[in-house]
Amino acid sequence: SEKPVAGFDGARKISYEDIGGLKDELQRVRETIELPMRHPELFRKLGIDPPKGVLLYGPPGTGKTLIAKAVASESGAHFISIAGPEVISKYYGESEQRLREVFEDARQNAPSIIFIDELDSIAPKREDVTGEVERRVVAQLLTMMDGLEERGQVVVIGATNRLDAIDPALRRPGRFDREIDIGVPNERDRTEIFRIHTRGMPLADDVDLGDLARQTHGFVGADLAALAREGAIRALRRYLPDIDLEADEIPPDVLERMEVQAGDFRE
Ligand code: ATP
Repeated sequence: SEKPVAGFDGARKISYEDIGGLKDELQRVRETIELPMRHPELFRKLGIDPPKGVLLYGPPGTGKTLIAKAVASESGAHFISIAGPEVISKYYGESEQRLREVFEDARQNAPSIIFIDELDSIAPKREDVTGEVERRVVAQLLTMMDGLEERGQVVVIGATNRLDAIDPALRRPGRFDREIDIGVPNERDRTEIFRIHTRGMPLADDVDLGDLARQTHGFVGADLAALAREGAIRALRRYLPDIDLEADEIPPDVLERMEVQAGDFRE
């Protein structure tokens, strides 16, 4: 289970339709990753190199992982996801070995997207680094990225909550040379995100997604997804008295009647 299947979150394929807001951001990610991956001839013709790395930065839970997964699945690329802290191994040499394996896997299965979450933990500024392991891992990552020959066919997407904590050597041209700000959603974006996370729910007529969006200032996508789920669970609790937990079947009329009401989303 170490290698997630390309673009899948559980059993479901992530698509651009699953991302609320972030239209300009997604457009930029697609231009820099999907376009050169699908049409390298455009870049050859223009005489420019497609990027090797893109850095997505912003607060936790805003959709960085979601964007990486969606681009991979929509462009048919092999997707390899690793988390910074998981790569930092205390056993000598294992961290570098793990990175080499990831890049080799990407090369063999190209086109590929390597997603490195919490990049700052793998590649903090070297002057901040006291640990020998971190120092070696940064050096190894730089080596792997500089050595990438599959221009445009293997791309590294890094994610971080703290752009200023990333080793500047990684932010030079030819490495993570595109930086895209993935910010907190505004009211309109929150409405879209709510719509996405409630689209499979039997919503009662009194549910007003715009209203919910207005009341959730400061919530990020992950918070909104949790609130939507919480609402459905609260709705379920209302029906429990009508359900005999020992019985094999839920009465069809109960299923028929079930709906999630506005009050269920109230905190
Ligand atoms: P972290 O920095 O913690 O890794 P992240 O920015 O990568 O956070 P995601 O893992 O992409 O955040 O988001 C977590 C979950 O929140 C997603 O699986 C999704 O359910 C929901 N979510 C976040 N942002 C959005 C969005 N813009 N549209 C729809 N759902 C979203």
